[in-house]
Amino acid sequence: MISGWTRFLPRKNKKDVDRSIRYIVSSAYKNVPFYRKSFNEAGIDPSSIRSIEDLPQLPITTRLNLMAGGPTEYLRRDIYPEQLTIRHTTGTTGTPVTIYMNKMEEAFRRITLIDAFRRNISLTFPMTLVDVGPERKDLATQIFKRMGPITIVRLFRTMPIEQQIKILMNIKPTIIKGRPSAHWELANALREKKIVPPVPRLMLSGAEMLFPHVRTLMENVFRCRVADYYNCEEIGNLAWECPANPGLMHPNTATGWIEVVDKQGNVVPAGIEGHLIVTNLFNHSMPFIRYELGDRVTMMDPRPCRCGFNGPVMRLTEGRNENFIVLPDGREITPRLMFEVVNSAFPHDMPGWSMIEAIRTFQIIQEANDLVVVKVVPDPAYSESLWHAVEKNIRTLHPAMRLEIVIVEDLKPEPGKKFHQVLGKLNTRWKSELSNQENK
Ligand SMILES: [Zn+2]
Repeated sequence: MISGWTRFLPRKNKKDVDRSIRYIVSSAYKNVPFYRKSFNEAGIDPSSIRSIEDLPQLPITTRLNLMAGGPTEYLRRDIYPEQLTIRHTTGTTGTPVTIYMNKMEEAFRRITLIDAFRRNISLTFPMTLVDVGPERKDLATQIFKRMGPITIVRLFRTMPIEQQIKILMNIKPTIIKGRPSAHWELANALREKKIVPPVPRLMLSGAEMLFPHVRTLMENVFRCRVADYYNCEEIGNLAWECPANPGLMHPNTATGWIEVVDKQGNVVPAGIEGHLIVTNLFNHSMPFIRYELGDRVTMMDPRPCRCGFNGPVMRLTEGRNENFIVLPDGREITPRLMFEVVNSAFPHDMPGWSMIEAIRTFQIIQEANDLVVVKVVPDPAYSESLWHAVEKNIRTLHPAMRLEIVIVEDLKPEPGKKFHQVLGKLNTRWKSELSNQENK
């Protein structure tokens, strides 16, 4: 019955996307002071923006610029803010963003999220969606919530892990979603306590980079498919992991249009990694046009895919600007590679298990030009000698790089913040955003 309704969702082809872009650009120019000013300053005639090919003429919108003028600047003039739903981003990069949408836009956002689940499994209703590790905020404050045929169960990050496990053991989850760091904590606790949890149809990961060791642990403990999703507060679902090609993602052309640009803001050709900017195709209350999210991706040439999707393809998020390590000679190292440099040096003793018993968890932070600090939560088998091989590996990146180990009790992120397995504090784009924030 319900599986029928997503049939009517817009399966956007290029013509539809072009039409949405024409509409959102002209309506933003007419009704939203921020975009009127920004297009005027850039000397843009909005009626000349007819299709995705014309988009690069428009200026890039940063969080900071958009938020600076307040709601009177970034919201449509003819709406009442008090009638809109409000969401907040975590502000990982120092600039939290407030997102407004009306009831229709909110409903569309929700339906497209469920539609994105359906790209990885066929859904039947009623279903139970378990959310692991959310904050109590905005609209999410109750543990159990019914939303039509969907029961949402929230295992809040502030709940003791024993309580989370108790709730989980008493339900039959269809989908378990959450950040990799929250999945890691729950799965690790289940493994340690030798508790076998109920098997969901799908484990869904998002918001942080999904490293292979976390995916492996999730698969082992929950015995089901794990799929990475690219969701954000500003858009909802932006892309889902292709069920036929793990590691590749299909951008959701119903919700947003993605472009990839270089440091100067020029669009890069397919196959080249760059900064992701997105145009929200459905939110007219608060438009996001060529909005920089801070993530890095590689777009590939569109082609019909084995999974049946015929549209854009991109390589999984390589991480955010702040996750890149910058070597003394200016070369940038992706967080995936940096993680491998450290992790591959450990003496792995368990097959199919990519973390070692001696270490509970660790975090790699670039503290200076030539200094990498690894924060580590040790387990009983821990020994300092573990780091000799890691040190050697790090020197192969650049001979001047040094390694420092700091033992800590816990590596949980602050409330509302994401966990960064690899944090490269020297990235210029991130630094400029932070310093702008501090200068304000
Ligand atoms: Zn596919």
